[in-house]
Amino acid sequence: MVPLKKIITIEEHFILKSISQRVAAFNIKENGGIAPNDPVQKELMSIGLPTNDDIEDIGERRIIFMNESGIDVQVLSYGPGSPQNITDKALAVELCQEANNELASSIKRHPTRFAGFAVLPVADPAAAAEELDRAVKELGFKGAMLSGTFNGCFFDEPEFLPVFAKALELDVPLYMHPGVIPKNIAAHYYESNNWPAVAGGMFASAGYGWHLDAGIAIIRLIASGIFDQLPGLKLISGHWGELVAFFLDRLDDQLSKTLKLDRKISDYYKSNIYVTPSGLFSNAQLKYVIDELGADKIIYSGDYPFLTYKNTRQFLETAPISQEAKEKIGYKNAEKLLRLE
Ligand code: CA
Repeated sequence: MVPLKKIITIEEHFILKSISQRVAAFNIKENGGIAPNDPVQKELMSIGLPTNDDIEDIGERRIIFMNESGIDVQVLSYGPGSPQNITDKALAVELCQEANNELASSIKRHPTRFAGFAVLPVADPAAAAEELDRAVKELGFKGAMLSGTFNGCFFDEPEFLPVFAKALELDVPLYMHPGVIPKNIAAHYYESNNWPAVAGGMFASAGYGWHLDAGIAIIRLIASGIFDQLPGLKLISGHWGELVAFFLDRLDDQLSKTLKLDRKISDYYKSNIYVTPSGLFSNAQLKYVIDELGADKIIYSGDYPFLTYKNTRQFLETAPISQEAKEKIGYKNAEKLLRLE
């Protein structure tokens, strides 16, 4: 085993308490939000969420974990309670700018250890594109993260095209992260009297549901023809591609023939999508994705602080793949895609 020169992980989260509190207050006022006393939500959060101290820290505490698990650089993005989905345009812009500014100043204190993805006020797509521009040019961010859906709409709706066009213009990727799925979908697919309510909540979210949803979001973007319009656009998909990378043949065989696209679904997928493990350190999945997409399309990620595996570096260094592939996945692809010095 040859030690890798560097490990860069790119799906790593933080929150800012003051912003998440304002987001929660807005959501409760607007639509009831997640009722603070809902026992199922409470139990789910106690199982799934890290302590606030871990997620709020963009400094020493996080760096201790990084040192223990062999991570040199984390690329950070806003976690739960993100201001992305605020439906009031002015408030969304204000909170996203504040979150991006705060992250930028934390990165400034540790410029060799952290980099950032912006959070965007998608309620106002033109403002979101402008904020992406500002975040990249003025704050030095490396792209942005889009989570789940917005107000019941997937991001393949034409109104969001300016955000993708801006990413292409700036030559930065957009990280398409899972988000909470609609209640009626969660109830239909994932709830049952055969298991506890909290299991239904987990099944609908991190247990399976939001991964399927995030994968469908990527297929929808491809099907919408976005890569015919913006052929150089680069997207990132976590959790080894949210199940899509494992289904490309079938998508080509069945769905491609009914779409009016220039190329097969797998062609777009293999040329425009990067996938990351999000802390799912499985050799079987790693090998499959290398076979299917090639090592050039895989970037490393740990999903800190939701997962805090100390073997982040060791998993890759000891994986049964070539040294060249390990170097690409461990840091070279991230340096190239995100233009990290
Ligand atoms: Ca995540």
